[in-house]
Amino acid sequence: MANYIPEDKIAEIKHSTDIVDVISEFVLLKKAGKNFLGLCPFHSENAPSFTVSPEKQIFYCFGCTVGGNVFSFLMKYQNISFPEAAGVLARQHGIEIPVQGMSPDQKKRISERERLFDINRQAMDFFRQVLNGVKSGNHAMTYLKDRGIRKDIIDHFYLGYAPDGWDNIVHFFTRKQVPLPLVEKAGLIVGRKNKDGFYDRFRGRIIFPILDLNMRVMGFGGRVMDDSMPKYLNSPETPVYNKSRSLYGIHRAKHHCRENDTVYVAEGYFDLLSLHQHGIQNAVATLGTALTTSHIQILKGYASRIILVYDSDDAGIRAAIRSVGIFLEAGVDARILVLPKGYDPDSYLFEYGYESFMDATGNAQSVMGFLMDSAMRKHGLSIEGKIRVISEMKEPLASISDRLERSLYIKDLAERLGIDETAVLEKVKEISAKNMGRAKHTTWSKQGKVAGYYNAGHNIRENGLSDKSIRLEQQIIAMMLQYPKILIEIDRRNILAFFEDDVLRSIGQLILDHMARSDENVSEIIDLITDEKQKNMVTALAFKEDQWDDESCLGIIDRFESIRDKNEKALLEKIKMAEKNNDFELLAKLLSEKQKMAVLKEKKKMSPWRH
Ligand SMILES: [Zn+2]
Repeated sequence: MANYIPEDKIAEIKHSTDIVDVISEFVLLKKAGKNFLGLCPFHSENAPSFTVSPEKQIFYCFGCTVGGNVFSFLMKYQNISFPEAAGVLARQHGIEIPVQGMSPDQKKRISERERLFDINRQAMDFFRQVLNGVKSGNHAMTYLKDRGIRKDIIDHFYLGYAPDGWDNIVHFFTRKQVPLPLVEKAGLIVGRKNKDGFYDRFRGRIIFPILDLNMRVMGFGGRVMDDSMPKYLNSPETPVYNKSRSLYGIHRAKHHCRENDTVYVAEGYFDLLSLHQHGIQNAVATLGTALTTSHIQILKGYASRIILVYDSDDAGIRAAIRSVGIFLEAGVDARILVLPKGYDPDSYLFEYGYESFMDATGNAQSVMGFLMDSAMRKHGLSIEGKIRVISEMKEPLASISDRLERSLYIKDLAERLGIDETAVLEKVKEISAKNMGRAKHTTWSKQGKVAGYYNAGHNIRENGLSDKSIRLEQQIIAMMLQYPKILIEIDRRNILAFFEDDVLRSIGQLILDHMARSDENVSEIIDLITDEKQKNMVTALAFKEDQWDDESCLGIIDRFESIRDKNEKALLEKIKMAEKNNDFELLAKLLSEKQKMAVLKEKKKMSPWRH
C-alpha cells in the first residue's frame, strides 16, 4: 500500500510527526510511565486501555486489540486510505507529495474526495457571498439579525444563504466547468426525474456549512425562514459526509472542550450558535440524528463530561431518553440539562443569559436521575405506577457496571418510591443475571484480554496448531521486534523456516528483510503489512512487556530448537513404524518431510555468539 507515495516522503512525514501529538488531537492522553493512556476511540470503555508508545511510535488497545502506527490511526479514525492519511500529515508539515506513482484507481478515489471537499468549499463561498453582498441575501441577513445572531458568529460559522430559484448552484458550477454529476455526488444538486438535467437542493434557505476537524466542508444544513416544510434540510450522506460521525460546530468547539473538560451537546443549529454567542464555546450539535456511539467516542477525545441540552418539549425528552443507553454503554460522565417548559437553549439564553444558564447547568441531572424523574412523571406514584417505574428502571440500573454507583442509585430509587430497597435490588439482580450470560460472549474478561492479546490476528484452534508452539513463535516475533540484535542469530540458525504458523513465519521474514539491513523499526514494519489483523498482532507483540537480553533471547531460541528436535525424533519413530508395517504411502510422505527438514538444517550456520 505504501508504494503509492515515494518512500523518502513517507520517511520525511514520519520524522516530522510524533504519534502522541497526532493522537492527542483526537484522544485525551495521560502519561503513564513511559507510555500514554487514554479511552479507546474504537470501542466503548470506562477504564483506559488505549496505549500510545512515543518510544516505538505505535499505539495498541488492550481492550479491542486494535493497533498500528500514526498512519494506521488516522486511517481508522477518519476512515481514510493510506495516501490520504499521509496527505493529511504532509499538509500539516508543509511536505509536498507527488501524485505520480499512485494507481489510477487510488488517484481517482482520492481526487474524488478532494474534489468533493473543494466543490463544497466553493459552494460555501457562493452561499456566503449571497448572504453578505448580493441583494437577494438582504432579507436573510435581516432574518439572522432579528434572531439576534451577531455578525462575528455568522462569520465564524460561515453562514450563507441559498437564493430562491431552481438552478443558481447548477449555473454557478456550470460556469466554473465543474462536471455536474460530481456536484450531484456532493449532494448540492439533484438529478431530475426524467434524467434531464439537475436542480438545486437548497433553495431559499439559510445555509449552515458543516466542517470537520480539519476545517474541510463536509456538507450543509439549510433552514427555511418561514413556516414551509421541511423546516430543515441536510446534505445527504456522501463520500465525505457521514451524519452519524459528524458534529456541527466541532471545528470551533474542540479547543474549548479541552480547556473546560466539558462539552455541551445541543440539537439544533440555532441552539448551537446561541451557545457560542453567549460565551459557551465548548458546544456542538447533532445533525438531525440522535446521538450515536461514534459521536460519543469522538467527544470523549475532547472532554470527560458531556452535558446534553435538549429542548424541554416531548421530542427533546424522547431524544434524551434514547441517548441514555449510549451514555451508559460508553461509560462517560453524562448529564442532562432539562430547561423549563417551553424553552430551548436558544430562547432560554436570549431571555435569561449566560449566568442563569450556567446556574441551570449546575443542576443538570445525572443520566439515572433524569430517567427516574421521567419514569415517575410518566407513571405516577400509585401502586401500579411504582411497579411500572421499577420495571422501566431495572434494565438501566443493571447496566451500571460500578457496584457502588449501582447500589447508590438503587437506594435512591427505593427512597423516592418509598419502598424497601431489597425489592428494587431483586428486580435488578434478575436482569444482571441475564446480562451476565450474554456478557460472557461479548465483553472482555480479564483473561479474555490476555487471550485476545495472544490470539490477536488469527484463531489458533482453527488452524489446528498447538497453543504452546504458537506462543513460542509469537514470543520469537516479539523478541525480533523489540531486540533487533537477535535478528542475525535468527537468520543464522534459520529459525523461521521451522515455524508451524505460516502467518507468523511471513511476518518474521518481513522483519528479517527490513530490520536486519537498516535501522527500520516497528512503525515502519507496520506500513508493510496490509492485513488489518496482522497489523494489530504485530503491534500487540511490539508492546509485549518483556525484558530482553542476550541470555533470555538465546534461551528462547534454544527452547524452540529443542522442541523441533523432539519433533524430528518423533518423525524418525514414525518412519520406523511405517517401515515395519509396510505402509509405503505413509513412508514416502514421512521421508519427504525428513528430507525437507534436513535441507533446512543444512542451511543453518553456526552462531557467531557461541564460537
Ligand atoms: Zn479499543
